[in-house]
Amino acid sequence: MTRAWVEIDLGALRRNGAVMAARAAALLPMIKADGYGIGAVAAARALESVSPWGFGVATVEEGRELRESGVVRPIVVFTPTLADELADIRALRLTPALGTARQIEAWRAIGAGHQDWHLAIDTGMHRAGVHWDEVAALRGLLEASPPQGAFTHFHSAELDDGSLAQQERRFEHALEQLPARPALLHTENSAALSRATTSRWSLARPGIFLYGVGSGPRALVQPQSVVSLRARIVEIHTLDDGDCVSYDATHRIAGSRRIATLPLGYADGYRRVLGNRTQVLVAGRCAPVIGVVTMDMTMIDVTDIACDVGDVVTLIGRDGERERSVESVAHDGGLSPYELLTGLQSRLPRVYVNAS
Ligand SMILES: *Cc1c(COP(=O)(O)O)cnc(C)c1O
Repeated sequence: MTRAWVEIDLGALRRNGAVMAARAAALLPMIKADGYGIGAVAAARALESVSPWGFGVATVEEGRELRESGVVRPIVVFTPTLADELADIRALRLTPALGTARQIEAWRAIGAGHQDWHLAIDTGMHRAGVHWDEVAALRGLLEASPPQGAFTHFHSAELDDGSLAQQERRFEHALEQLPARPALLHTENSAALSRATTSRWSLARPGIFLYGVGSGPRALVQPQSVVSLRARIVEIHTLDDGDCVSYDATHRIAGSRRIATLPLGYADGYRRVLGNRTQVLVAGRCAPVIGVVTMDMTMIDVTDIACDVGDVVTLIGRDGERERSVESVAHDGGLSPYELLTGLQSRLPRVYVNAS
């Protein structure tokens, strides 16, 4: 047992994958950012259980890691690629997402025009891809090098602002302007797929749901939690009235309190802002984090909880009847659950449970 670690329930990941797979013709699970921090290779192996069409990553290096681990399925690289990255993409048999004439021309220029690629269509996110009402300008290139797939990305699938329907209409409009309909069409992220009874397209691209974070109360399905963050108590001190705790003395002791120190901090991804704002679980009970979280250590108040040095504390995850979900901890800190999850750093060993 180590001092602090991230525990990953691969059984829950597989079950979440099955829930998403049941709503879609086929899955293109997103395992970018090292599988949202849980380990891309482990995630890819676990998700083999749902026979995905392929996997989605952000960068060429992420694609390389998967190829080198033995993944033979298609791997789509979603972040726009620079011309000098295309040769590696080709050599690794990755599938680029291209969205400008310049990118498509560069892909053709290296002689890869007839290799699979997907057309990125921007329907309102304004991040990457060809504008939905400008695809006609690409006609010549698309006729010369037809894309295997076309996709768009929703900017607010979790909200009820009508934007998702508008983006779908724009996507359909864009598809009508293409010289031919690509074989693979995809739009839905976790929130869109969780809130629809079935996918409308040939592939769906869930990410965060697989890793245990749901899309709010309007979702029709909720994931099982996958990630736990645990640490062992390394010291316990009794502090007296007026003593301060941690940098900037933001917490002052009233009366006499028992304070435990945990060996992880913001350099591990347990964000500084969580200090004085969240709780952890010790022996199945809640203990507040006091003072700011420091780079390597975090202090908690365990005055009313029987515990000792070496005992395991749960910062994210379940302990007995109680659970600190990724969402609730992120909420306490005013953080996005995506940020909290992907921010858990490599200094924390990953411990996989229920691998098969
Ligand atoms: C990250 C990402 C997804 C997955 O989004 P989630 O909200 O995690 O489900 C889907 N498509 C694209 C293009 C992405 O970048």
